[in-house]
Amino acid sequence: MPLPIPEPNTGSAFQWKLWIYTNYDCNLRCSYCVAKSGPNVPRRAIGLNNVKQLVDEAVALGFDHIFFTGGEPFLLNDIYEMLCYSALHVKTSVLTNAMLLGQRIPGATRTRLDRLEDVARAVGENLIVQVSLDGGIPEHHDAYRGAGTWQKAVDGIQLLQSRGFRVRLSSTETPANTGRLDLICEFHRSLGIPDEDHFIRPLAKRGYSKEGIELGMGNLIPEVTVNLDGVFWHPLSTDADMQVSRKMFPLAESVRRIQAQLDAIAATGEAPLMTFT
Ligand code: SF4
Repeated sequence: MPLPIPEPNTGSAFQWKLWIYTNYDCNLRCSYCVAKSGPNVPRRAIGLNNVKQLVDEAVALGFDHIFFTGGEPFLLNDIYEMLCYSALHVKTSVLTNAMLLGQRIPGATRTRLDRLEDVARAVGENLIVQVSLDGGIPEHHDAYRGAGTWQKAVDGIQLLQSRGFRVRLSSTETPANTGRLDLICEFHRSLGIPDEDHFIRPLAKRGYSKEGIELGMGNLIPEVTVNLDGVFWHPLSTDADMQVSRKMFPLAESVRRIQAQLDAIAATGEAPLMTFT
């Protein structure tokens, strides 16, 4: 049975997404982080020139949404140029814990939010900010992310909203919040964030996480993912078992490999792949 993954540029409703790991360092060290990020983790920055080429090739291939993730992308001084270049060409989302946005950029007088607002002015509605929030009360979020992080994330969300940003929320269902996910839904509605801009995903046993569901190339719908080491099946992980190519470019070659792998999976007749973002 063929899988519902069309070629890019076919006009199908299926959306090809490109994920770019901009860096691996982070101001937090969440105990369930699939990227194994943290304050002392090497940056492994992908760089502006690579990002520009990735955007150009992805747009030519028919990708219709590019996501920037990390680590914490707003630790980078050139993230604004990356987002601007991308969002001028295609719908663009940036994932953040939202805790640094109100702070001044080191060595500058303006805050990260000021710079991000400049980008939004240039690109309009093509830019979406996605913030991680795991609960409607601090205990549900801080259990995996650290004491005090819920309040700082909420402050960051409200800062973004005060500047007119569309904010999407992603929540991870964990043993700390399962059964009380209604609280996060009540909370995001109270912030004015509609249901369509909130999604919940399960905890995955990857990276630092020792619990959760086990996912890999055999059961995930691919979402092409790039870091400095090459191209991967899905942003869930840039571990070796998820690697598609050691070469970032040309992106079309990795897409071809992914499609060949999908054909091989389909030929087995096993269970259909699932989404996980
Ligand atoms: S889950 Fe996100 S915020 Fe937490 S350490 Fe990983 S990259 Fe940083």
